[in-house]
Amino acid sequence: TGKTEVYFKVMEYWLNRGRQILYLVPEVSLTPQLLARIRGAFPGRDVRQYHSYMTRNQRQRIWLDAVEQNVDILVGTRSSLWVPMKNTGLIVVDEEHDSSFYQQSLPYYDGVEAALKKAALLDIPIILGSATPRVGHYHLVESDRLSLLRLTERPVGSFPTIEIIDMKEEKNPIISKRALEEIRQTISAAKQVFVFVHRKGYSNYVVCYTCGNTVSCPHCSVSMTYHRTDNSLKCHYCGYKEPAPKSCPVCGSMTLSARGFGTERVEHDLQKYFPSARIMRMDRETIDNPISYEKALLEISRKECQIIVGTKMITKGLDFPDVEMVLIVDADRLMSFPSYDSPETAFQHIAQVSGRSGRASIGKAFIQTFNPNNRIMKAAFERDYETFYLDEITLRKELNNPPFSKIAEVICYGETEDESGLLAEKIAEEIRQARIDSIEVFGPVAPLLSKLKNSYRMKVTVKLPPDANCEFLQKIQKKHPADVQIIINGIGGIV
Ligand SMILES: [Zn+2]
Ligand SMILES: [Zn+2]
Repeated sequence: TGKTEVYFKVMEYWLNRGRQILYLVPEVSLTPQLLARIRGAFPGRDVRQYHSYMTRNQRQRIWLDAVEQNVDILVGTRSSLWVPMKNTGLIVVDEEHDSSFYQQSLPYYDGVEAALKKAALLDIPIILGSATPRVGHYHLVESDRLSLLRLTERPVGSFPTIEIIDMKEEKNPIISKRALEEIRQTISAAKQVFVFVHRKGYSNYVVCYTCGNTVSCPHCSVSMTYHRTDNSLKCHYCGYKEPAPKSCPVCGSMTLSARGFGTERVEHDLQKYFPSARIMRMDRETIDNPISYEKALLEISRKECQIIVGTKMITKGLDFPDVEMVLIVDADRLMSFPSYDSPETAFQHIAQVSGRSGRASIGKAFIQTFNPNNRIMKAAFERDYETFYLDEITLRKELNNPPFSKIAEVICYGETEDESGLLAEKIAEEIRQARIDSIEVFGPVAPLLSKLKNSYRMKVTVKLPPDANCEFLQKIQKKHPADVQIIINGIGGIV
């Protein structure tokens, strides 16, 4: 795509001055294709990759070579930020909007923010690339802290046409008649279809019609997902798995029903509609390492499958000439997280997915929604990032949300509900006592995920000015290393 050529030009400039390049990508799955391309563009340069699937020895080798300045270009995921390259001259962050840049386990950090910080400390340039930049970063352009380079021409082919399907008019709640028609036409023309589903699994929850009980994980406060392939219930938070019960564990009735849907269910339904179609499913259940991912990509490019059903995984860097149609099955689900940044995440997903088809031919994207007049749907439909951004930034300013503030979520853990509650109250009090200027303290409240892996959780939310000193939070973290977790400007849906 066009932005890669821009990166390459700037990289060449710094390489010719004897500097090293750090090239960050959201996921390891993107590195093989990219490495080949970079090596082709920079013959004779030492191009390496770095990610957490490599062995300890392989990673150590990279560290040593980086220190010795034997690496010209290091391509890797967020963990490559910590490789001690001696003479870094430029940092490139591709697909900077991608949520995979957030590390969602200890130590929590946002790889893009860390890259910006690193560039500032080293006093070197950094390039952030995206068709749907983060709202907070686009805002930095207004304040002249980043400059904007706009690519106006689409590199290959034209944009796909987008059609919004109003699901209120549909009898089938999963795949609309309109979409089925289009899929039929597309595959009979020997083209391929991508079907995007927000969640994996067959159904999202299992409910008893007699007593209303929802089968939930014994270790977490979430409902278990039904997986048809092995007739099991799984917790997507802690990995707990059990055979699917025949009767309700609470009342014993045989009236259990699987509700909601995920990739497995969509795959199953499509196979019913198109019995002879070759369907491939791509989610964390079927693809769990870079090798199986590579294999799947090969199958798509060899046209061994006609319909590909997958999660977010299928939105990443997939450019296949014969994928002519993209269907977003459950666009509404993207917007339903109770977090200030869920509109941004939803817009990015929809825009990225619908931008995938028709790279080489004229493609079509279909978005199924119960809210066709929603502003995010409209902006995605019109490919209008500017309007989306302006609405969003106005709203954030009014509500004093990032980038106009920092939001720190302080999660307190305990073995019992009381224990986590008491700790949270104590910490909220400590923060209020500190009397720091212009901060707001909310809570404690029980978060959506009030129990995780047998630990009870309570949340205190602190809103601070964007440049506020966070030392008092560091102090709290140090005082409670094991039972407090602090996330600053995290992404929605995790707490
Ligand atoms: Zn029951
Ligand atoms: Zn669980």
